[in-house]
Amino acid sequence: MPQPSPVPVAPVVPVSAAMRRAKVRAATEHTTVGLAQAGPGGTVTIACACGMTLTNGPTWSLDEHIRLHRAEARFLALAQAAPPGIPRLVEWPPRQPA
Ligand SMILES: [Zn+2]
Repeated sequence: MPQPSPVPVAPVVPVSAAMRRAKVRAATEHTTVGLAQAGPGGTVTIACACGMTLTNGPTWSLDEHIRLHRAEARFLALAQAAPPGIPRLVEWPPRQPA
């Protein structure tokens, strides 16, 4: 008696290579460069490898800016590399301002 054909299932890969690469690329492209520089009025800045200057502000510290910047970069990279159809918390691609 013939056996029913098995139901196809997606390969069991916890995290795809594309998403792993995206995370590593984001971490590499957003490392701080050089030393923190003290400026006038208590400002402290440091360069990021992406070209952006990270700084403290009236209500945030330099460390908070660095953490937010890295988190945003990681989010953008993972959101771009995520499989199509995956349920999301944040709309992707992001809506462009009118
Ligand atoms: Zn950066």
